[in-house]
Amino acid sequence: MEQKLSSTSDDPADLDEKRLSLADTSVARPQLNLPDTMGMWGIAGDLLWDGINDEVREGLCVVVLRDRIASLCTLSEACRRGVPVQHFPACCIMPGMIDAHVHMEFSEHFPLHEQPKLTCHELRAAMEARALRMVQHGITAARDLGGTSTFAAVDLRNDIMAGRVVGPRLVCAGQPITCPNGHCHQWGGIVNSMAEIRPMINKQVERGVDWIKVMATGGLRTPGTNPQKAQFSEDWLFEIVAASTSHGRPVAAHAHGTAGITAAVRAGCHTIEHCSWIGQFGWCSGVDDATIQEMSKKGVYVSPTAHAKWTRKPMGEAGYERMCTAFGRLRRQNVPLVASSDAGAIPGLPHEALAGGVNVLATMASMGAPEALRAATSCCANAIGIGDVCGQLSEGYAADLLLVSGNPCRDLKALRRPRMVVSRGNLVDPCVMPHFDSTM
Ligand SMILES: [Zn+2]
Repeated sequence: MEQKLSSTSDDPADLDEKRLSLADTSVARPQLNLPDTMGMWGIAGDLLWDGINDEVREGLCVVVLRDRIASLCTLSEACRRGVPVQHFPACCIMPGMIDAHVHMEFSEHFPLHEQPKLTCHELRAAMEARALRMVQHGITAARDLGGTSTFAAVDLRNDIMAGRVVGPRLVCAGQPITCPNGHCHQWGGIVNSMAEIRPMINKQVERGVDWIKVMATGGLRTPGTNPQKAQFSEDWLFEIVAASTSHGRPVAAHAHGTAGITAAVRAGCHTIEHCSWIGQFGWCSGVDDATIQEMSKKGVYVSPTAHAKWTRKPMGEAGYERMCTAFGRLRRQNVPLVASSDAGAIPGLPHEALAGGVNVLATMASMGAPEALRAATSCCANAIGIGDVCGQLSEGYAADLLLVSGNPCRDLKALRRPRMVVSRGNLVDPCVMPHFDSTM
Protein backbone atom coordinates (compact mmCIF):
# COMPACT_ATOMS: atom_id res chain seq x y z
CA MET A 1 0.00 0.00 0.00
CA GLU A 2 1.88 3.07 -1.21
CA GLN A 3 -0.69 5.68 -0.34
CA LYS A 4 0.25 7.15 3.01
CA LEU A 5 -1.69 9.75 4.90
CA SER A 6 1.05 11.52 6.77
CA SER A 7 -1.38 13.69 8.67
CA THR A 8 0.14 15.47 11.61
CA SER A 9 -3.13 17.13 12.57
CA ASP A 10 -5.65 15.54 14.88
CA ASP A 11 -8.40 17.74 13.56
CA PRO A 12 -11.02 15.66 11.68
CA ALA A 13 -11.77 18.67 9.49
CA ASP A 14 -8.16 18.72 8.30
CA LEU A 15 -8.36 15.02 7.74
CA ASP A 16 -11.54 15.41 5.69
CA GLU A 17 -9.68 17.78 3.41
CA LYS A 18 -6.78 15.41 3.02
CA ARG A 19 -9.12 12.54 2.38
CA LEU A 20 -11.03 14.47 -0.25
CA SER A 21 -7.90 14.51 -2.35
CA LEU A 22 -7.97 10.72 -2.37
CA ALA A 23 -10.63 9.63 -4.80
CA ASP A 24 -12.37 6.47 -3.63
CA THR A 25 -11.17 4.67 -6.71
CA SER A 26 -7.52 5.69 -6.44
CA VAL A 27 -6.64 3.19 -3.73
CA ALA A 28 -3.95 0.81 -4.85
CA ARG A 29 -4.66 -2.92 -4.87
CA PRO A 30 -3.17 -4.66 -1.88
CA GLN A 31 -0.78 -7.47 -2.28
CA LEU A 32 -2.72 -10.55 -1.36
CA ASN A 33 -0.24 -13.15 -0.27
CA LEU A 34 -2.06 -16.40 -0.38
CA PRO A 35 -0.27 -18.83 1.87
CA ASP A 36 -0.05 -22.45 0.91
CA THR A 37 -3.74 -23.17 1.25
CA MET A 38 -3.17 -26.90 1.21
CA GLY A 39 -1.23 -26.70 4.43
CA MET A 40 -1.33 -25.07 7.81
CA TRP A 41 0.54 -21.90 8.63
CA GLY A 42 0.76 -19.85 11.75
CA ILE A 43 0.81 -16.23 12.77
CA ALA A 44 1.85 -14.86 16.15
CA GLY A 45 2.78 -11.76 18.07
CA ASP A 46 4.40 -11.82 21.47
CA LEU A 47 0.86 -11.58 22.84
CA LEU A 48 -2.52 -13.09 21.96
CA TRP A 49 -5.94 -11.78 22.93
CA ASP A 50 -8.70 -14.27 22.20
CA GLY A 51 -11.69 -11.92 21.96
CA ILE A 52 -13.18 -13.14 25.24
CA ASN A 53 -10.87 -12.89 28.24
CA ASP A 54 -9.70 -9.81 30.11
CA GLU A 55 -6.03 -10.69 29.73
CA VAL A 56 -3.64 -11.36 26.91
CA ARG A 57 -1.56 -14.54 26.86
CA GLU A 58 2.05 -14.97 25.83
CA GLY A 59 3.85 -17.36 23.53
CA LEU A 60 0.82 -18.55 21.54
CA CYS A 61 0.27 -18.62 17.83
CA VAL A 62 -2.83 -18.97 15.69
CA VAL A 63 -2.60 -21.88 13.27
CA VAL A 64 -4.61 -21.26 10.12
CA LEU A 65 -5.90 -23.83 7.66
CA ARG A 66 -7.52 -22.30 4.59
CA ASP A 67 -10.09 -19.80 5.93
CA ARG A 68 -10.30 -21.24 9.44
CA ILE A 69 -8.43 -21.26 12.71
CA ALA A 70 -7.13 -24.81 13.01
CA SER A 71 -5.84 -24.34 16.55
CA LEU A 72 -4.09 -22.11 19.04
CA CYS A 73 -0.81 -23.55 20.19
CA THR A 74 2.57 -22.54 21.59
CA LEU A 75 5.25 -21.42 19.19
CA SER A 76 7.38 -24.41 20.13
CA GLU A 77 4.48 -26.78 19.46
CA ALA A 78 4.00 -25.20 16.00
CA CYS A 79 7.70 -25.54 15.35
CA ARG A 80 7.64 -29.19 16.43
CA ARG A 81 4.74 -29.87 14.04
CA GLY A 82 6.57 -28.13 11.21
CA VAL A 83 3.99 -25.39 10.85
CA PRO A 84 5.63 -22.26 9.37
CA VAL A 85 4.89 -19.30 11.66
CA GLN A 86 5.14 -15.61 10.91
CA HIS A 87 6.14 -13.99 14.18
CA PHE A 88 5.72 -10.26 14.83
CA PRO A 89 7.67 -9.09 17.90
CA ALA A 90 6.06 -6.54 20.25
CA CYS A 91 2.67 -7.22 18.67
CA CYS A 92 -0.60 -8.78 19.78
CA ILE A 93 -2.79 -11.00 17.65
CA MET A 94 -6.54 -10.66 18.19
CA PRO A 95 -9.79 -11.18 16.28
CA GLY A 96 -10.47 -8.65 13.51
CA MET A 97 -12.76 -5.77 14.44
CA ILE A 98 -16.45 -5.78 13.59
CA ASP A 99 -18.63 -2.75 12.85
CA ALA A 100 -22.32 -3.33 13.64
CA HIS A 101 -23.62 -0.44 11.55
CA VAL A 102 -22.31 0.80 8.23
CA HIS A 103 -23.70 1.83 4.85
CA MET A 104 -21.34 0.54 2.17
CA GLU A 105 -23.27 2.23 -0.63
CA PHE A 106 -22.66 5.79 0.53
CA SER A 107 -19.65 8.08 0.52
CA GLU A 108 -18.61 10.14 3.52
CA HIS A 109 -17.68 12.93 1.12
CA PHE A 110 -21.33 13.87 0.57
CA PRO A 111 -24.41 14.34 2.77
CA LEU A 112 -26.49 11.16 2.97
CA HIS A 113 -29.25 12.31 0.64
CA GLU A 114 -26.99 14.29 -1.69
CA GLN A 115 -24.89 11.40 -2.94
CA PRO A 116 -23.65 11.81 -6.52
CA LYS A 117 -25.36 9.80 -9.25
CA LEU A 118 -22.91 7.07 -10.20
CA THR A 119 -22.99 4.42 -12.86
CA CYS A 120 -23.17 0.82 -11.60
CA HIS A 121 -19.48 0.47 -12.38
CA GLU A 122 -18.48 3.65 -10.52
CA LEU A 123 -20.60 2.73 -7.52
CA ARG A 124 -19.10 -0.72 -7.35
CA ALA A 125 -15.55 0.66 -7.64
CA ALA A 126 -16.21 3.10 -4.79
CA MET A 127 -17.73 0.37 -2.62
CA GLU A 128 -14.82 -1.98 -3.28
CA ALA A 129 -12.38 0.76 -2.31
CA ARG A 130 -14.25 1.27 0.98
CA ALA A 131 -14.32 -2.46 1.64
CA LEU A 132 -10.58 -2.70 1.01
CA ARG A 133 -9.75 0.20 3.33
CA MET A 134 -11.86 -1.36 6.06
CA VAL A 135 -9.93 -4.62 5.93
CA GLN A 136 -6.61 -2.77 5.79
CA HIS A 137 -7.61 -1.03 9.01
CA GLY A 138 -8.45 -4.31 10.73
CA ILE A 139 -12.23 -4.44 10.19
CA THR A 140 -12.92 -7.97 9.02
CA ALA A 141 -16.74 -8.00 9.37
CA ALA A 142 -19.56 -5.48 9.30
CA ARG A 143 -23.32 -5.24 9.16
CA ASP A 144 -24.66 -3.06 6.35
CA LEU A 145 -27.84 -1.41 7.60
CA GLY A 146 -29.38 -0.22 4.45
CA GLY A 147 -29.24 1.26 1.04
CA THR A 148 -31.23 1.91 -2.08
CA SER A 149 -33.14 -0.36 -4.44
CA THR A 150 -29.84 -1.33 -6.09
CA PHE A 151 -29.13 -3.79 -3.24
CA ALA A 152 -25.50 -3.01 -4.09
CA ALA A 153 -24.26 -4.05 -0.62
CA VAL A 154 -25.81 -7.51 -1.06
CA ASP A 155 -23.94 -7.96 -4.36
CA LEU A 156 -20.74 -6.73 -2.73
CA ARG A 157 -21.26 -9.19 0.15
CA ASN A 158 -21.62 -12.06 -2.30
CA ASP A 159 -18.48 -11.12 -4.21
CA ILE A 160 -16.46 -10.71 -1.01
CA MET A 161 -17.60 -14.09 0.27
CA ALA A 162 -16.81 -15.70 -3.09
CA GLY A 163 -13.27 -14.27 -2.88
CA ARG A 164 -13.68 -12.01 -5.90
CA VAL A 165 -13.32 -8.82 -3.82
CA VAL A 166 -11.18 -8.04 -0.76
CA GLY A 167 -13.43 -6.80 2.01
CA PRO A 168 -14.98 -7.50 5.38
CA ARG A 169 -17.54 -10.29 5.57
CA LEU A 170 -20.87 -8.48 5.41
CA VAL A 171 -24.36 -9.11 6.65
CA CYS A 172 -26.84 -6.86 4.91
CA ALA A 173 -30.26 -5.35 5.54
CA GLY A 174 -31.33 -4.10 2.08
CA GLN A 175 -33.96 -1.37 2.02
CA PRO A 176 -35.01 -0.16 5.47
CA ILE A 177 -38.74 -0.35 6.13
CA THR A 178 -40.08 3.17 6.56
CA CYS A 179 -43.31 5.18 6.30
CA PRO A 180 -44.32 7.58 3.50
CA ASN A 181 -41.98 10.61 3.69
CA GLY A 182 -40.27 8.86 6.63
CA HIS A 183 -36.59 8.50 7.41
CA CYS A 184 -34.70 7.44 4.26
CA HIS A 185 -37.93 7.00 2.26
CA GLN A 186 -35.75 7.90 -0.76
CA TRP A 187 -34.36 4.34 -0.61
CA GLY A 188 -37.73 2.85 -1.47
CA GLY A 189 -38.66 0.70 1.55
CA ILE A 190 -41.96 2.50 2.09
CA VAL A 191 -45.02 0.75 3.49
CA ASN A 192 -48.33 2.59 3.28
CA SER A 193 -50.39 0.09 5.24
CA MET A 194 -50.05 -2.96 7.46
CA ALA A 195 -50.93 -5.07 4.44
CA GLU A 196 -47.82 -3.84 2.62
CA ILE A 197 -45.42 -4.99 5.33
CA ARG A 198 -45.18 -8.66 4.35
CA PRO A 199 -44.73 -8.05 0.61
CA MET A 200 -42.02 -5.47 1.35
CA ILE A 201 -40.19 -7.87 3.67
CA ASN A 202 -40.64 -10.73 1.19
CA LYS A 203 -38.96 -8.52 -1.42
CA GLN A 204 -35.97 -7.93 0.88
CA VAL A 205 -35.66 -11.65 1.58
CA GLU A 206 -35.90 -12.50 -2.13
CA ARG A 207 -33.03 -10.10 -2.76
CA GLY A 208 -30.93 -11.99 -0.23
CA VAL A 209 -30.82 -9.83 2.90
CA ASP A 210 -29.61 -11.22 6.23
CA TRP A 211 -31.38 -8.66 8.41
CA ILE A 212 -34.45 -6.46 8.21
CA LYS A 213 -33.98 -2.82 9.18
CA VAL A 214 -36.89 -0.71 10.32
CA MET A 215 -36.88 3.03 10.81
CA ALA A 216 -38.80 3.16 14.09
CA THR A 217 -38.37 6.93 14.41
CA GLY A 218 -37.48 9.86 12.20
CA GLY A 219 -33.83 10.54 11.53
CA LEU A 220 -31.38 13.38 11.79
CA ARG A 221 -30.48 13.36 8.12
CA THR A 222 -33.83 13.15 6.35
CA PRO A 223 -35.43 16.60 6.15
CA GLY A 224 -39.05 16.66 7.29
CA THR A 225 -38.74 13.75 9.71
CA ASN A 226 -38.62 14.08 13.47
CA PRO A 227 -36.04 11.88 15.23
CA GLN A 228 -38.00 12.17 18.49
CA LYS A 229 -41.23 10.85 16.96
CA ALA A 230 -42.13 7.21 16.41
CA GLN A 231 -42.82 6.38 12.75
CA PHE A 232 -44.76 3.20 13.47
CA SER A 233 -47.15 2.15 16.18
CA GLU A 234 -46.34 -0.93 18.21
CA ASP A 235 -48.72 -3.20 16.27
CA TRP A 236 -47.00 -2.31 12.99
CA LEU A 237 -43.63 -3.10 14.55
CA PHE A 238 -45.01 -6.42 15.83
CA GLU A 239 -46.08 -7.23 12.28
CA ILE A 240 -42.63 -6.27 10.92
CA VAL A 241 -40.89 -8.49 13.49
CA ALA A 242 -43.31 -11.37 12.88
CA ALA A 243 -42.85 -11.17 9.10
CA SER A 244 -39.06 -10.97 9.43
CA THR A 245 -38.68 -13.77 11.94
CA SER A 246 -40.94 -16.01 9.85
CA HIS A 247 -38.10 -15.81 7.31
CA GLY A 248 -35.47 -16.28 10.02
CA ARG A 249 -34.31 -12.66 9.70
CA PRO A 250 -33.66 -10.60 12.85
CA VAL A 251 -34.71 -6.96 12.98
CA ALA A 252 -32.55 -3.89 13.58
CA ALA A 253 -34.52 -0.83 14.64
CA HIS A 254 -33.24 2.66 13.98
CA ALA A 255 -34.62 4.57 16.98
CA HIS A 256 -33.70 7.98 18.40
CA GLY A 257 -36.79 8.99 20.39
CA THR A 258 -37.84 7.15 23.52
CA ALA A 259 -41.33 6.24 22.24
CA GLY A 260 -39.83 4.51 19.20
CA ILE A 261 -37.16 2.74 21.28
CA THR A 262 -39.78 1.41 23.70
CA ALA A 263 -42.13 0.26 20.92
CA ALA A 264 -39.26 -1.46 19.08
CA VAL A 265 -38.14 -3.31 22.21
CA ARG A 266 -41.70 -4.39 23.05
CA ALA A 267 -42.23 -5.60 19.50
CA GLY A 268 -39.13 -7.82 19.71
CA CYS A 269 -36.57 -6.00 17.58
CA HIS A 270 -33.14 -7.53 18.16
CA THR A 271 -30.82 -4.53 18.04
CA ILE A 272 -31.56 -0.87 18.71
CA GLU A 273 -29.54 1.48 16.53
CA HIS A 274 -28.51 4.88 17.91
CA CYS A 275 -30.75 4.56 21.01
CA SER A 276 -30.51 8.30 21.66
CA TRP A 277 -33.42 8.44 24.15
CA ILE A 278 -34.56 11.78 22.71
CA GLY A 279 -37.25 13.08 25.03
CA GLN A 280 -38.99 16.30 25.82
CA PHE A 281 -35.75 18.05 26.75
CA GLY A 282 -33.59 16.83 23.91
CA TRP A 283 -30.85 14.27 23.40
CA CYS A 284 -30.88 11.54 26.05
CA SER A 285 -33.45 13.32 28.19
CA GLY A 286 -35.89 10.42 27.97
CA VAL A 287 -33.95 7.43 29.32
CA ASP A 288 -36.52 4.85 30.40
CA ASP A 289 -35.47 2.26 32.97
CA ALA A 290 -38.48 0.00 32.33
CA THR A 291 -37.43 -0.25 28.67
CA ILE A 292 -33.82 -0.89 29.69
CA GLN A 293 -35.02 -3.73 31.93
CA GLU A 294 -37.03 -5.19 29.08
CA MET A 295 -33.97 -4.94 26.80
CA SER A 296 -31.99 -6.84 29.40
CA LYS A 297 -34.65 -9.52 29.76
CA LYS A 298 -34.99 -10.01 26.00
CA GLY A 299 -31.27 -9.92 25.21
CA VAL A 300 -31.51 -6.81 23.05
CA TYR A 301 -28.22 -5.29 21.92
CA VAL A 302 -27.70 -1.55 21.67
CA SER A 303 -25.63 -0.29 18.75
CA PRO A 304 -25.17 3.36 19.75
CA THR A 305 -23.20 4.45 16.65
CA ALA A 306 -20.74 6.23 18.95
CA HIS A 307 -18.24 7.11 16.24
CA ALA A 308 -14.86 8.78 16.02
CA LYS A 309 -16.33 12.23 15.35
CA TRP A 310 -18.17 12.20 18.68
CA THR A 311 -14.99 13.55 20.25
CA ARG A 312 -16.45 16.83 18.96
CA LYS A 313 -19.65 16.22 21.00
CA PRO A 314 -22.09 16.95 18.14
CA MET A 315 -24.99 16.44 20.57
CA GLY A 316 -23.73 19.31 22.77
CA GLU A 317 -21.94 19.17 26.11
CA ALA A 318 -25.08 18.46 28.16
CA GLY A 319 -26.34 15.88 25.68
CA TYR A 320 -22.94 14.18 25.70
CA GLU A 321 -22.94 13.95 29.49
CA ARG A 322 -26.51 12.54 29.47
CA MET A 323 -25.48 10.01 26.83
CA CYS A 324 -22.58 8.87 29.06
CA THR A 325 -25.04 8.45 31.94
CA ALA A 326 -27.43 6.48 29.69
CA PHE A 327 -24.60 4.13 28.65
CA GLY A 328 -23.89 3.54 32.34
CA ARG A 329 -27.54 2.69 33.02
CA LEU A 330 -27.59 0.22 30.10
CA ARG A 331 -24.38 -1.44 31.29
CA ARG A 332 -25.63 -1.76 34.87
CA GLN A 333 -28.60 -3.75 33.50
CA ASN A 334 -26.23 -5.89 31.39
CA VAL A 335 -27.50 -4.55 28.07
CA PRO A 336 -24.52 -5.01 25.73
CA LEU A 337 -23.26 -1.98 23.82
CA VAL A 338 -21.51 -2.78 20.55
CA ALA A 339 -19.07 -0.92 18.33
CA SER A 340 -20.86 0.75 15.43
CA SER A 341 -20.00 3.76 13.32
CA ASP A 342 -22.89 4.51 10.93
CA ALA A 343 -20.16 5.15 8.34
CA GLY A 344 -21.62 6.19 5.00
CA ALA A 345 -24.36 8.18 6.71
CA ILE A 346 -21.98 10.50 8.57
CA PRO A 347 -20.26 13.13 6.41
CA GLY A 348 -16.52 13.14 7.00
CA LEU A 349 -16.44 9.76 8.74
CA PRO A 350 -14.47 7.20 6.71
CA HIS A 351 -15.67 3.60 6.72
CA GLU A 352 -12.37 2.51 8.20
CA ALA A 353 -12.50 4.79 11.27
CA LEU A 354 -13.95 2.21 13.68
CA ALA A 355 -10.88 2.17 15.97
CA GLY A 356 -11.50 5.80 16.94
CA GLY A 357 -15.15 4.97 17.65
CA VAL A 358 -14.18 2.09 19.94
CA ASN A 359 -12.18 4.55 22.00
CA VAL A 360 -15.11 6.99 22.10
CA LEU A 361 -17.44 4.21 23.24
CA ALA A 362 -15.00 3.11 25.95
CA THR A 363 -14.62 6.65 27.24
CA MET A 364 -18.33 7.47 27.21
CA ALA A 365 -19.45 4.17 28.73
CA SER A 366 -16.52 3.99 31.18
CA MET A 367 -15.57 0.59 29.80
CA GLY A 368 -12.21 -0.96 30.48
CA ALA A 369 -10.19 -1.81 27.39
CA PRO A 370 -11.08 -5.55 27.35
CA GLU A 371 -14.82 -4.81 27.44
CA ALA A 372 -14.46 -2.22 24.67
CA LEU A 373 -12.49 -4.76 22.63
CA ARG A 374 -15.25 -7.35 23.11
CA ALA A 375 -17.76 -4.70 21.96
CA ALA A 376 -15.82 -4.62 18.68
CA THR A 377 -15.22 -8.38 18.39
CA SER A 378 -17.00 -11.28 20.11
CA CYS A 379 -19.90 -9.27 21.53
CA CYS A 380 -20.44 -7.47 18.23
CA ALA A 381 -20.36 -10.77 16.36
CA ASN A 382 -23.09 -12.09 18.66
CA ALA A 383 -25.15 -8.94 18.15
CA ILE A 384 -25.15 -9.22 14.37
CA GLY A 385 -25.71 -12.97 14.29
CA ILE A 386 -22.26 -14.24 13.30
CA GLY A 387 -21.00 -15.08 16.79
CA ASP A 388 -20.58 -18.75 15.88
CA VAL A 389 -18.40 -17.83 12.89
CA CYS A 390 -16.05 -15.06 13.98
CA GLY A 391 -15.21 -12.56 16.72
CA GLN A 392 -12.96 -14.83 18.75
CA LEU A 393 -9.80 -16.86 18.38
CA SER A 394 -11.03 -20.40 18.83
CA GLU A 395 -10.59 -23.61 16.91
CA GLY A 396 -12.96 -23.79 13.95
CA TYR A 397 -13.65 -20.05 13.91
CA ALA A 398 -12.92 -17.91 10.87
CA ALA A 399 -9.33 -16.84 10.35
CA ASP A 400 -10.31 -13.16 10.61
CA LEU A 401 -7.36 -11.78 12.52
CA LEU A 402 -5.80 -8.47 13.41
CA LEU A 403 -2.21 -8.05 14.47
CA VAL A 404 -1.54 -4.78 16.30
CA SER A 405 1.54 -3.16 17.85
CA GLY A 406 1.37 -3.16 21.64
CA ASN A 407 -1.15 -4.58 24.07
CA PRO A 408 -4.75 -3.59 23.24
CA CYS A 409 -6.01 -4.80 26.65
CA ARG A 410 -3.87 -2.09 28.23
CA ASP A 411 -4.20 0.56 25.56
CA LEU A 412 -6.93 0.82 22.92
CA LYS A 413 -4.63 3.00 20.81
CA ALA A 414 -3.10 -0.29 19.69
CA LEU A 415 -6.15 -0.72 17.41
CA ARG A 416 -4.81 2.18 15.40
CA ARG A 417 -1.51 0.41 14.83
CA PRO A 418 -2.41 -2.58 12.65
CA ARG A 419 0.62 -4.50 11.45
CA MET A 420 -1.09 -7.29 9.57
CA VAL A 421 -4.63 -8.40 8.87
CA VAL A 422 -5.87 -11.85 7.99
CA SER A 423 -9.23 -11.89 6.23
CA ARG A 424 -10.74 -15.35 5.84
CA GLY A 425 -7.28 -16.85 5.79
CA ASN A 426 -5.72 -14.29 3.41
CA LEU A 427 -2.95 -11.98 4.55
CA VAL A 428 -3.70 -8.32 3.88
CA ASP A 429 -1.02 -5.71 4.43
CA PRO A 430 -2.58 -2.73 6.15
CA CYS A 431 -1.83 0.83 5.17
CA VAL A 432 -0.61 3.46 7.58
CA MET A 433 -3.46 4.63 9.78
CA PRO A 434 -4.44 8.25 9.47
CA HIS A 435 -4.82 10.18 12.69
CA PHE A 436 -8.50 10.61 13.13
CA ASP A 437 -9.55 12.05 16.46
CA SER A 438 -7.90 13.97 19.19
CA THR A 439 -8.53 11.54 22.03
CA MET A 440 -6.19 8.81 20.92
ZN1 LIG B 1 -27.34 4.19 9.64
